[in-house]
Amino acid sequence: MKMLEGKVVFSGIAIGKISVLKKADQSIRRWKVEDVEAEKQRVKAAKRRAVEQLQKLYEKAVQEVGESGAAIFEVHQMMLDDDGYMESIYNMIETENVNAEYAVASTGDNFSAMFSAMDDEYMKARAADVKDISERVIRILMGKDDNDVESDEPVIVVADDLAPSETVQMDKSKVLAFVTKFGSSNSHTAILARTMNIPALINVDYTEDMDGKMAIVDGKKGCLLIDPDEETLEKYRAEKEEELKQRAMLKELKGKPTETKSGRKMNLYANIGNLSDVASVLQNDAGGIGLFRSEFIYLEKDTFPTEEEQFQIYKTVAQNMAGKKVIIRTLDIGADKQVDYFNMEHEENPAMGYRAIRICLTQPEIFRTQLRALLRASVYGTISVMYPMIISVSEVKKIKEIVDQVKAELKEEGIPFKDVEQGIMIETPAAVMISEELAKEVDFFSIGTNDLTQYTLAIDRQNAKLDDFYDSHHEAVLRMIQMVVDNAHKAGIWAGICGELGADMTLTKRFVEMGVDELSVSPTFILPIRKIIREME
Ligand code: PEP
Ligand code: MG
Repeated sequence: MKMLEGKVVFSGIAIGKISVLKKADQSIRRWKVEDVEAEKQRVKAAKRRAVEQLQKLYEKAVQEVGESGAAIFEVHQMMLDDDGYMESIYNMIETENVNAEYAVASTGDNFSAMFSAMDDEYMKARAADVKDISERVIRILMGKDDNDVESDEPVIVVADDLAPSETVQMDKSKVLAFVTKFGSSNSHTAILARTMNIPALINVDYTEDMDGKMAIVDGKKGCLLIDPDEETLEKYRAEKEEELKQRAMLKELKGKPTETKSGRKMNLYANIGNLSDVASVLQNDAGGIGLFRSEFIYLEKDTFPTEEEQFQIYKTVAQNMAGKKVIIRTLDIGADKQVDYFNMEHEENPAMGYRAIRICLTQPEIFRTQLRALLRASVYGTISVMYPMIISVSEVKKIKEIVDQVKAELKEEGIPFKDVEQGIMIETPAAVMISEELAKEVDFFSIGTNDLTQYTLAIDRQNAKLDDFYDSHHEAVLRMIQMVVDNAHKAGIWAGICGELGADMTLTKRFVEMGVDELSVSPTFILPIRKIIREME
C-alpha cells in the first residue's frame, strides 16, 4: 500500500478505482493564413458556439449545484465577451497572419499569465478560467468534443488540474472523488466539489501508472491510499458507512428552518478557525458563522499577518458565505494560544494575564491592521465583528473610538466599507454582572462559556487534572447565561452562545427556553441540534 499526502478541499471518504484524466493533446500548431478575414470569422463562430455551450452548462449546473455554484459559467460567458480578450485574438491574426487556434492559445496564455501575476487571490484564480475558455474555443475550432470520464463504474478522478467546466460536465454518478496535483482551495472547481458533496484533495503528487488501481481518498486526514490492504479497506468501509448515515440525516434536515413546532426560531451558526472550515459550514447548512477565531491566522504564521493577507481571508470567507452572517472575533492571543513573534513575557497566570483585547488596546497598531482588513472585507458579504475578554464599559468605548478612527482613515483613502455590527464576547463574570450597561454599547452579545466557566468556577480549563471539577452545567454559569440574555433583550439586542456549551445537546431545550437567540457550534453539530429544536414544542 502506498500513501500520498494532499490538502483537503472537501472532506469525506471515497473507495474505488483511480481514473487518471489525461488532457487531450492540445499542442497547437502555428501556420500562416492568407485570408485574415475568414480566420477572424472562424474565431467569431467558435466563440458563439462556446457561449451556447456555456449557457447549456450554466443551466445544467443550476439544476445540480444551484445558482451560486453555476455562476462560474456566467463569468466564462462574460470573459468571452470581453473586448480586450477578443481584440487581442483578432490583432494577432491580423498582424501576424496566424491561424485562429494559435491566436486563441497565445492570447489565453498571455491573459492567464497576467492574472497569475496579480496580488488579489480572486484575480489569481481567474488564470485557470481564462485558460478554460481558451481551451473550449480551441476544441471547437479543432472540431473536438468535450473531455469526459471514460468509465462505466464510478471512479476517483485524478488529474493535474480540473477546469470548472470539466468538473461540472462529468457525470456525477461516475465520480467518487477529485484528486489533483495543482489547483487552489479557492478555485471554482474546489467550490463546486464542495457544493457537489464530493471529497476532494489537491497537491497530490500522483503518477500516471496509478491509473486503474484500487485506492482510498481520506478526505479527513488528507491522503490518497493506493492498493490498500484488506484490513485498511475494511476500516474505511466502516467509516464510509458511518459517513453515509450522517449524510442521510444531513440531507433530511438541510434547508429546513431551525425552529420549534410552535415557531420559535433559533439562529444556528458555526464556529471556524480558518478558511478551510468554511466547506464544512456550508455542507452542514449553518445559518452563518458565529465565531471565526481569527487568532488562528496569527498562529499559523511566523510573523504578523499583513493587512492584505487578512483581508483576503476575511473576504473569501464572506464571499463563500454568500451574504450569510460572518462574525469575526478579533485577535484572542495569549493564555493557551501563544505566538513566539509576539515576544510575550513569561507570566505566572497567563489565563488571567496579558491576552486578547488587552493586547489589542495596548498595541493598537496590531488591532488597527486587523480592523482595516475586516472593514475592507465587509463589502463582500455580511461581516460582524466581536471583541473577546471584555470586562468594562470603558474598554468597549475605547474599542469603538479606535474603530471610528480606522473608519475615518479608510474613508479618507476612498476605501469602501460597510457599517458592521459590533458585539462583545461575554466570557468574564465581570461582563455578566455589568451586562445591562454593556448592552447599551453594542449590537450583540456572544457568551464564551469556555472561559466564562473557567473564571466563574476558578478552574483552569487547560488542567486535565481538574476535569472532574469543571462542571459545565454548574448553576452559576447557567444563571449567568440567563442574566446576560435578559439584559440583552431589555436593551433590544440579541444574545448567543459560542462556547462549547452551546453544542451540549442535553441543554439545547433549556437554551431555547431561556430565550437564547443564537447557538454557534462546530459545523458537525448543526444538524443534530437543528433536529432537537425542530422536535421541541
Ligand atoms: C470561549 O471562551 O467560550 C470561547 C468561545 O473562546 P475560546 O474558546 O476561543 O477562548
Ligand atoms: Mg474565550
